[in-house]
Amino acid sequence: MISVAQPLLGRAEEEAVLNVIRSGQIAQGKQVEVFEKRFAEVCGVEEAIAVSSGTAALHLALLAHGVGVGDEVITTPFSFAATANVILLVGATPVFVDIDPLTYTLDPALVEEALSSRTKAIMPVHLYGHPCNMQPLMALAKKHSLAIIEDACQAHAAMIAEQPVGSFGVGCFSFYATKNITTGEGGMVTTNDSTLAERIRMMRSHGQRERYRQVIMGHNLRMTDMQGALGVVQVAKLETLTEKRIANAHYLTRRLQGVVQTPITLPGYRHVFHQYTIRVPKNRAAWIQQLQMRGIGTAIHYPIPIHKQPFYQEHPTLWRIGSQTANLSVAEAAAHEVLALPVHPALSEDDLATIAREVLQLCD
Ligand SMILES: *Cc1c(COP(=O)(O)O)cnc(C)c1O
Repeated sequence: MISVAQPLLGRAEEEAVLNVIRSGQIAQGKQVEVFEKRFAEVCGVEEAIAVSSGTAALHLALLAHGVGVGDEVITTPFSFAATANVILLVGATPVFVDIDPLTYTLDPALVEEALSSRTKAIMPVHLYGHPCNMQPLMALAKKHSLAIIEDACQAHAAMIAEQPVGSFGVGCFSFYATKNITTGEGGMVTTNDSTLAERIRMMRSHGQRERYRQVIMGHNLRMTDMQGALGVVQVAKLETLTEKRIANAHYLTRRLQGVVQTPITLPGYRHVFHQYTIRVPKNRAAWIQQLQMRGIGTAIHYPIPIHKQPFYQEHPTLWRIGSQTANLSVAEAAAHEVLALPVHPALSEDDLATIAREVLQLCD
């Protein structure tokens, strides 16, 4: 079976974790610190703060900006629910704006009409590893004094014109098992704002700067040193793993383009292919079943847009759509048609050939 996602962990990771266990210092410590430094370098930023998950990174980024009750945050409905859930968790209102049909990321042209006097932040998602178009969002944020919180949970080392994601606004990354690099569970916040970084460092540990002296409100959202050690090894491989993903994606596109709708990369963008997503306008369920029978795992990211999730449908006063005349039809259509094929760096040449061959056969 060719799995749709697979963590690539080897001897170096085993050694690194064993060393931490043998050291007896297993909570947040030296390894987390090293991981933070290396990850900040990857993103070209001054500060990186490791936390327990991507969700924790997003949550703390909002809290550290003071986003809370009565505030609005503009985001996309076509993402993992965590993106909007953290907005609700701080007591603010998610404002959903539709996506670009080609990149599946927030459509910047629709953001201005969604602004209100309560808007505090814009939270774009670099979905599937393709960066959201940041330049117009940065201009809007500057004009209206808004924070930009990038959900870069799928986009480690993705770039626009050589500028890494996570350096446009405040970046939030995930190291969950299926992500481009992994620590099992884990997250990171990246920023050039040292005051904000200091606040997030305190907030991940009960608002303490030093032990048992609490100065602001906080939580326990720390990363363990076992995870930090995994991160140190994985981040050193990030470039190689990313190149492999991109090469795999190029192979699939070469074989499949013109037959199915393959993913695009905008000029000047570095798409890091967390997912390789094609469109299947008809009979998607049958495709999934057929590919499964032929030994190829697939996934749908995401079958239900966030605003259509049962919880969001049951609580319509907790969120709103960008404007009275707007709708989320592009996201809704995408949810019915997208299909992720395996693209991860553990795939062999045979695997890739098999995937292409079987998909082409389904099109005959
Ligand atoms: C994975 C993911 C998250 C959440 O990360 P966790 O580490 O699972 O908490 C948030 N947003 C997106 C787009 C993700 O893919």
